[in-house]
Amino acid sequence: MLIRRKTGFLQRFYFFEIFKGMWITNAMFWKNILGRGEKTATMEYPEERRDYSERYRGMHYIKAVNGVENCTACMLCPTVCPAECIHIEAEEGPNKEKFPEKFEIDVLRCCFCGMCEEACPKDAIKLSNIYEMSQTKRTVYDKEFLMVQRGDKKIKEGV
Ligand code: SF4
Ligand code: SF4
Repeated sequence: MLIRRKTGFLQRFYFFEIFKGMWITNAMFWKNILGRGEKTATMEYPEERRDYSERYRGMHYIKAVNGVENCTACMLCPTVCPAECIHIEAEEGPNKEKFPEKFEIDVLRCCFCGMCEEACPKDAIKLSNIYEMSQTKRTVYDKEFLMVQRGDKKIKEGV
């Protein structure tokens, strides 16, 4: 539905609106320059980093206890993954339990929906709150990379 808003008398003179916009930009500029500290809205990344919520869904990892992954290669996570970016090849262990011989996530396809984490019956696949994931090339997280335990790490410690 198209909603037509009435234009005020002053809004019809674009110069006034432009001046108002410039005034706000200018005021914020000087506030940031002169009021460094609590008043500043911007952060000096990477020296300063924002603490994201614990619920933030960032870089994946596979939860492991004593170096052994919780994953039993049940294939639930690749089944529910809407982006089809999880690839698992299962193997049978010495005690007949299955484990993922290969576990890969094509992170460029991932939409960080968290459905893999929700579906996992073993609490094995997790999404940490690490958000620094920019890459210069296509990245596939392999099992070795995913086995790095990232859950307890603070963002400042990095990957
Ligand atoms: S977060 Fe979503 S898209 Fe990414 S691997 Fe998990 S299920 Fe797939
Ligand atoms: S759902 Fe969990 S246990 Fe099943 S394959 Fe995925 S990570 Fe492994």
